[in-house]
Amino acid sequence: MLKRVLIANRGEIAVRIQRACRDLNIDTVAVYTESDRDSLHTMLADKAVCIGTEAADNGYLNMQNLIEAAVLTGCEAIHPGFGFLSESPAFAAACEENGIRFIGPSAETIRLLGDKAQARDTMKKAGVQVVPGSDGPVDTVAEAERIAGQLGFPVLVKASAGGGGRGMRIARDETQVRTAFLEAKTEAGSSFGDDTVYLEKLISHPRHVEFQILADEEGHVIHLGERNCSIQRRNQKMLEEAPDWNLSEEMRTRMGQDAVRAAKAAGYRNAGTVEFIVDGENYYFIEMNTRLQVEHPVTEMVTGVDLVREQLRIASGLPLSLRQEDVHINGHAIECRICAEDVFRDYAPVPGQVEFLHLPAGAGVRVDSALYSGCGISPFYDSMICKLIVHGDTRLEAVRRMRRALGETIIQGLKTTLPIHHLILYHKAFLRGKYDTGFMEQFGQELLDMYEAAGGKNESIS
Ligand code: ADP
Repeated sequence: MLKRVLIANRGEIAVRIQRACRDLNIDTVAVYTESDRDSLHTMLADKAVCIGTEAADNGYLNMQNLIEAAVLTGCEAIHPGFGFLSESPAFAAACEENGIRFIGPSAETIRLLGDKAQARDTMKKAGVQVVPGSDGPVDTVAEAERIAGQLGFPVLVKASAGGGGRGMRIARDETQVRTAFLEAKTEAGSSFGDDTVYLEKLISHPRHVEFQILADEEGHVIHLGERNCSIQRRNQKMLEEAPDWNLSEEMRTRMGQDAVRAAKAAGYRNAGTVEFIVDGENYYFIEMNTRLQVEHPVTEMVTGVDLVREQLRIASGLPLSLRQEDVHINGHAIECRICAEDVFRDYAPVPGQVEFLHLPAGAGVRVDSALYSGCGISPFYDSMICKLIVHGDTRLEAVRRMRRALGETIIQGLKTTLPIHHLILYHKAFLRGKYDTGFMEQFGQELLDMYEAAGGKNESIS
């Protein structure tokens, strides 16, 4: 088993990884930037190393500083968490070149799956159904127009290197292809430094259903069931549940098998997620994420498996601690991603300071957070500040628990998305469980109106 791990991340995910390390008696080394000096992840680690500033040193993206910190503190491995360098093949390769284990798949696998057009190709060859679309990248407007015409409208122009919902544009008819193509290409270039795009048919009102997989070094691959992540704003997830309320046992089995097949086709190692969109009885592969996901706790709640513990075991060269037949889905789990955002200003991030904090507890409630009373919320980083996760024997029980957990949470001093989550938990489309990725587009304004009618705009406490 590994003895000392550097966590190349911050905030709640750094704390979450520290917890799994402690449970396995592994020492943790935190890294922090100047503005994160007083962060919880820095305080809780066995050792903490400053890696510079965001502005001058590129903060948590500075590969050289991270590797030097790992070498100097005698770490055998680096856990990248999610975001930052977690999906960087260059970082995975640099770790290995310096004799440090990267806790994740190989650089080669990350490179393959990070190129979505190439990943589609690999999956097609492995017999996993992908969304109808172009064969590989599309280079010119004329080519995009021709392929879009063949696919039928609406189509989606997507960045090959895409992530976080960026670099995606819809063309609803032939007159919109040019603009969609050029805009997606420009955004892809500026966001990812790679302007390669491809085309997919836009599936209207799909559900986003993803499978968690684990793979060890001996080539064993299992899946741990699915998560429904269809409550999204601008293609970014807000709330997730496990299992998917609408999935038949038959479809679950088929999709799970395809997820395992997808991972095997990519030569996968460690934890990963195979994402599908589901349209009635049909499902299509959209991408595979080569890291731990923000929403991994809902899978942990229904399977009882600590995914970070499994990641650490796999990186230590140990075999998976369970077989496919040992995976059982118990009850239902829901996660709410709480962000420091002003929902009335188009969910703009609102950095500041937490003046007073009370987090929920009790049966079936888990909080993944790095908040404390008095802590600062940095303008440099993601606005997600805390995740509330609940488990219940049934979906209804989980819904009630989440309402209770949200009701108990007090984050004073900042505006947060907490009230919107609360309203979602009472919305009838959500309660029916029949919602799709269009939920926020359809009901987002209604939720804001309800919040405003309840006096939300004038509230200093959210
Ligand atoms: P990213 O890597 O940027 O998150 P994804 O390919 O995972 O991009 O897609 C993010 C979300 O965009 C999906 O969860 C889904 O809601 C929507 N989406 C992606 N592709 C399609 C498609 N072909 N049809 C309909 N919706 C899609």
